[in-house]
Amino acid sequence: MLAITEMMIPVNPFSRPGIKLKARKGLVMHYTASRGAPAVNIAKYFAGLQFQHENDSDDDTYASAQYSVDRKSIYRVIPDYEMAYHCGSKTYTAEALNHLGSYPNNSTIGIEMCIEKDGSIHEETFQNAADLAAYLITTYAFPESEIWTHKGVVGWKDCPLPWVQKPSEYERFKKEVNARLHPVIAPSEYRIDVKYNGTALAEKGISRGTDSYTPLRAIAERSRTSVNWDPKLNKGILNSKVMDSSFVINGVGYAKSTEVAAALGLNVKWGGKDSAVGFDEIVHECNVVIGGKTVKGFIRQANSNSYVAVRDAGDAAGATVGWDQETLLSSLNGTALQTTFVYQEVGYAHTREVAAILGLNIKWDGATNTVKLTKE
Ligand SMILES: [Zn+2]
Repeated sequence: MLAITEMMIPVNPFSRPGIKLKARKGLVMHYTASRGAPAVNIAKYFAGLQFQHENDSDDDTYASAQYSVDRKSIYRVIPDYEMAYHCGSKTYTAEALNHLGSYPNNSTIGIEMCIEKDGSIHEETFQNAADLAAYLITTYAFPESEIWTHKGVVGWKDCPLPWVQKPSEYERFKKEVNARLHPVIAPSEYRIDVKYNGTALAEKGISRGTDSYTPLRAIAERSRTSVNWDPKLNKGILNSKVMDSSFVINGVGYAKSTEVAAALGLNVKWGGKDSAVGFDEIVHECNVVIGGKTVKGFIRQANSNSYVAVRDAGDAAGATVGWDQETLLSSLNGTALQTTFVYQEVGYAHTREVAAILGLNIKWDGATNTVKLTKE
């Protein structure tokens, strides 16, 4: 998408009331009706309205839209969270009242499309507006189905005129936006299960050519590691490592399964094509001593932390063990263990957190490969 050029209008009664949107219910498409005028002129026009006077004898114009778009630029003159005056009317269509509420200005963002000297909306302007609409829907969770024309909101105004004259253009616009929101998976690609320690993730992976791709958020949540998206690199960051192979489809970030496995210290197996991807933790056994009793634990290669089965720890310490099916966290004496980690269907937790809840100190004895939780 083109970069958005910011040209904020000062708050004024005519074009920027300075009122926050009450809801985000839809986008309203307009045309500028000003032949050959670029987006910057439209932005300046809305800005110029501030110099009117409410108490003189001249008629006042109240008008604005958050965005103006032409073949080469996108201008924003009012913040995305504030109301503009782009679709106010004495009356509205029943459908608009139903979908957008009694005053659609306060639940929508307005987009002005510039027109050429011959009155048409240039294809580049059309495509830029579709990029912007998809961006706003993705960024602010506007409902995908709520892309309106000015005419559709008020009924009487022929705006955007080129779409009123040729309604198939409006339909094509909605399809273009939809295509940006839902890129089609190529026929040569497959949606595949991704399993972690034997259990499938909620989100599917993608098989593409000789590689499989794993959904980043789903694997991060299951393995209890961090994930985010770096907007500058336009790459996913998993367990503090940049995923060079990452990309986004339908709002879900993916990266090559091999790169994911390396970032998380996991083994990965994949049979190719439409078979499932299997991730398995690499763990190294260790001993955990609690209250004088020795139980088996392990150290995860992913984070070098030692873990103990919560039930073993509870039994050894005489503490009550619980499990919350909603948060998927184990608990000891009623306190949830934030490091809960399910491995081969058994709930484990980081020994440090277990020690803290039990009020014990923790010591590592490398010679005997043992974590000791003691009162001393
Ligand atoms: Zn309009």
